[in-house]
Amino acid sequence: MNYKKYLDMHVHTDNSPDGNHSAIFICEQAQLKGLRAIAFTDHCEVDAYKKDGYDKSMFQAYFDITKAKSIFKGNLIVLTGIELGQPAYDKELAEKILSLYKYDIVIGSIHNLRNKEDFYFLDYKENNVDELLEEYFKEVYEMVKWNGFDTLAHLTYPLRYIKGENGIDVDMGKYMDIIDEILKLLAKNGKALEINTSGLRQKINSLLPDEDIIKRFKSFGGEFVTIGSDAHYANDVGAGVFDGMATARACGFENVTLFQKRFPVTVPIE
Ligand SMILES: [Zn+2]
Ligand SMILES: [Zn+2]
Repeated sequence: MNYKKYLDMHVHTDNSPDGNHSAIFICEQAQLKGLRAIAFTDHCEVDAYKKDGYDKSMFQAYFDITKAKSIFKGNLIVLTGIELGQPAYDKELAEKILSLYKYDIVIGSIHNLRNKEDFYFLDYKENNVDELLEEYFKEVYEMVKWNGFDTLAHLTYPLRYIKGENGIDVDMGKYMDIIDEILKLLAKNGKALEINTSGLRQKINSLLPDEDIIKRFKSFGGEFVTIGSDAHYANDVGAGVFDGMATARACGFENVTLFQKRFPVTVPIE
């Protein structure tokens, strides 16, 4: 692997409620690890925009990223991103948010169902998992239809908690039809699928989504994949990115993608 091609397109700073370190400190770690480019993608949950203060934190995040960009210029490509949660729950607000600042990369995520808490907080029992997953994939499909993001985050996010933390086994075969519809539309729209490596550091011990889904995306004509550690600590920046790249290659992708000014830039996997 060529260290110059080592990218991390999903990193959180302390401007995310669950982040821990400043943008500058994370950039230092990224540089030490030999990363070429990182995207800061702090959370902005559209359905809790004012309630949880994202209207303020996204301003601070934008300022901190801009500062990091200028300090590390020539040594590390720092991209301005945002992880937009539940944008299709309020499309008008989502579009307004994206018009406030100039982003390089917008990650589209679903962390919670409508009027429910984040999957992280839910109480799982064998008998409610099906219902939750069915609704989850429908919401992801709605977001892909909305199409206002660049890369689709952690497509199998609830499994992190259902399978990983609660040890409940899930037959993914039940959801493959809707997952295929999501992947086909994503490919048709020319958007990227994110290979989120956070699961490799968690109990689920798997990429989100896993190899099978990444291969399906490729088979439907998917062109772009981004790789993101979803780091919430400076020490995790770039974590698992080589595994993500190796899997992308095994699934038939010759490139990984970064976004600049919301345009895909492909970087060969060597
Ligand atoms: Zn997320
Ligand atoms: Zn994230």
